Amino acid sequence: MHHNTPLMSTVVVGLVLAFIFGALVQRIRISPLVGYLLAGVVMGPFTPGYVADQNIANELAEIGIILLMFGVGLHFSLKDLWSVRAIALPGAVVQITAATVMGWALGWMLGWNTGKGIMFGIALSTASTVVLLRAMQERRLIDTERGRISVGWLIVEDIACVLTLVMLPPLAGLMNGQAAGDIALSTLAWPLAITLGKVAAFVVLMLVVGRRVIPWLLHYIAHTGSRELFRLAVFAISLGVAFGAAILFDVSFALGAFFAGMILSESELSQRAASETLPLRDAFAVLFFVSVGMLFDPSIIVKEPLPLLATLFIILFGKSLAAYAIVRVFGHSNSTALTISASLAQIGEFSFILVSLGVSLSLMTERGRDLVLAGAIITIMLNPLWFALLDRVLAEKEGAPKAPPDAKPVPRVELPVSALTNHVVLVGYGRVGSVVGRALRAGNIPFLVIEDNPGTIERLRQESIDVITGNAAAPDMLQAANVAAARGLLVAIPDAFEGGQIVAKARAISTALPIIARAHSEEEIAHLKHHGANSVIMGEQEIAKAMIAQIGVASA
Ligand code: AMP
Repeated sequence: MHHNTPLMSTVVVGLVLAFIFGALVQRIRISPLVGYLLAGVVMGPFTPGYVADQNIANELAEIGIILLMFGVGLHFSLKDLWSVRAIALPGAVVQITAATVMGWALGWMLGWNTGKGIMFGIALSTASTVVLLRAMQERRLIDTERGRISVGWLIVEDIACVLTLVMLPPLAGLMNGQAAGDIALSTLAWPLAITLGKVAAFVVLMLVVGRRVIPWLLHYIAHTGSRELFRLAVFAISLGVAFGAAILFDVSFALGAFFAGMILSESELSQRAASETLPLRDAFAVLFFVSVGMLFDPSIIVKEPLPLLATLFIILFGKSLAAYAIVRVFGHSNSTALTISASLAQIGEFSFILVSLGVSLSLMTERGRDLVLAGAIITIMLNPLWFALLDRVLAEKEGAPKAPPDAKPVPRVELPVSALTNHVVLVGYGRVGSVVGRALRAGNIPFLVIEDNPGTIERLRQESIDVITGNAAAPDMLQAANVAAARGLLVAIPDAFEGGQIVAKARAISTALPIIARAHSEEEIAHLKHHGANSVIMGEQEIAKAMIAQIGVASA
């Protein structure tokens, strides 16, 4: 490249190609993520033409992971994390074990020794943070129960991965067939104890010191009134804590960033902090996919078709089945189990780190590495498809009891239907919804709220307002709110596209239901009306009307 600017060329070529391929595949209705991966393949060493610097691409991807995990932490409280431990901990452990055993079995068939087989299996066991979070965020599932379980599960996998990285070097001899007696117990116990101690020290430091200092710092900066400084503070905190955690405590960047976000989640500034990181986060997440694509050697598809198929089978079906089974065993619903298993049916960044360590310790052959890398890119590509399939399966189940339109729809078992009738269903209890709610209460009109923000849900519960928690666009929600018997539906959320989905679903349940929705532009009004809203209120227009009225009053 010109002037030898590898960082710049990797960023620029990466983003430009990702944009081109993303836009192209979007046209044929494939997730843009596939386009980003293809951009990576084109920039990678296995295809002719420009080859970007893999190390730089990987580092850029790490920044993407940090910002993503920070964002997730912002939506998470310690209580949330604690509340899913009963399922996330055994779930992740069972799934990792199942994947390891399956990987080992495949390795055995390919003629590898036990150590290499186990290493291969471990590399197939952990899902990619970025892929999982993107899928969850796209569906606004992060703040729902299944979202929390998946994130908790991810945290356990992350810690397991950190431990594996530490334990592999001392265990490498044993795994490669050295006699067990040659390895003193202390060589194993020490690194394990030290690593666990460091993780614990980091967590305690964050909870005791970080919890006070970081929100204080952000509040202080917020009061300076400088948007630029506030933005900078958010980035400095997320990246700084993640980096410090990795350097000083040997925990992963992802875990460090997650904690930095989590201790901020209690502060009211967290929403603002989250929105500040969004654009940069999305750009770096794109570079993550590009960096994955660069690792892919397409020739493996013709050289090793059968082992590759077996690898894919383990990641897509073996791991999913194990996850599905354990979530069901713990008494969660079918749809929760399906969502979680779909979100985990891929592998990514952890696997890349594990395979490179495996190869350097002679615990993995180049062939094993190539299979893992190919498995990663293909399963990441297939993941959106997996979710689409899931949506279809759930929708079919939902549509199964096809009743005449005026009959009460038969809900699926997991959400009880509200006993309220002739009530108002209010979607969203933010700036708009809460004002409406107060008026309804004052007018003694029965109402029920659908809300997905944990903080708001807590407040609603304290005020003893009926609330159904989760995304109103998700299956079952409107049925559970008994919209069929309601006097009206108010869609008071800012996102008109999601609003459109909710309106369409409600309209499918009842043709007579009065639906009033919220919009911010003419296009949104048309969109919502097209989906069946009777009336759409545009916030900006109402503000203007009120201003005109007030100036009229003042000048009269
Ligand atoms: P505001 O823009 O301040 O009126 O806030 C909108 C509120 O709606 C927030 O509290 C969001 O958590 C909530 N919200 C947004 N989208 C959804 C959704 N799809 N389902 C349920 N609640 C939502």
